[in-house]
Amino acid sequence: MLHRVDTPDPEGIWYNQHLKMSPQTIEEMVDEARRHKCRFVTLDELVEVAQQKRSVRRLISVTLDDGYRDNYTHGAPLFQQLKIPYTIYVCTKMVKGEMLYWWDILEHIVLTNDRVTLNDGQTFDCSTKEAKEQAFLDIREVILRLPQDNLLKHLQKLFCHYPVDYQTGNDWLGLTWEQLQELSREPLATIGNHTYSHLSFTGCTDAEICEDIQRATDEMQEHVGVRTRHFAFPFGEASAVSPHDVELVKSLGFTTSATTNHGYVRYGTDPLELPRLFVTERNWRQVLEWIVKLC
Ligand SMILES: [Zn+2]
Repeated sequence: MLHRVDTPDPEGIWYNQHLKMSPQTIEEMVDEARRHKCRFVTLDELVEVAQQKRSVRRLISVTLDDGYRDNYTHGAPLFQQLKIPYTIYVCTKMVKGEMLYWWDILEHIVLTNDRVTLNDGQTFDCSTKEAKEQAFLDIREVILRLPQDNLLKHLQKLFCHYPVDYQTGNDWLGLTWEQLQELSREPLATIGNHTYSHLSFTGCTDAEICEDIQRATDEMQEHVGVRTRHFAFPFGEASAVSPHDVELVKSLGFTTSATTNHGYVRYGTDPLELPRLFVTERNWRQVLEWIVKLC
């Protein structure tokens, strides 16, 4: 599981920067994986093999979450050069430039201030890099506890002491429909569904979840002419996918769905509950060692 194909900024906040992996590191990782006889396959091939109880080892399927523009500018040429199939799970709200990149906004605020004060008077020390990293995580927790509907209004209140461009990122972070059309003609690329709004399923009704997923399906069909068959659950680290969520996605007819649960695919793994391995600039060697040891 990757997100962004770009070089992490060492001056930035690691919690954001760890979503980036540079093309050089990805190439190094692929070389190392191939040296250990790993083979890169499409999601369809991976699932087909896992269902057949064939003695096949070390297949890797590359997935990229969210639909960042660098997947097109840096990722596509790199994967082409390395001859690696890949799946990009696209959140269509990003494509439409309607996203609220609050994690980037928060990073900017903690990096450009020595102390951050929220509307309720809570203050966070940001005088050193270490303090900034901690402040980011602490304020992130505050944001995650805000009512997620009309988040913009709540953020504007929270950061009332700071001049913030809430449109930030919408002009340059997401893929465009034209780029997706081009990617859809690229044999190595698969385009998957990552919902419209990247909503957290917790606290949403089944109808709201289905509507958000269906909206992404419809928009991708309309603008790119692709019917998405592969899905990735939109939420992060700790929130495990509930059996109910899996059933819900199954009912929508996807061929596979990927979670962020840590693990690898083996015979009997439910294709609608695929575990993944999150690789970063810092952990990829360790992850690869683990694969080589266990698979
Ligand atoms: Zn995501």
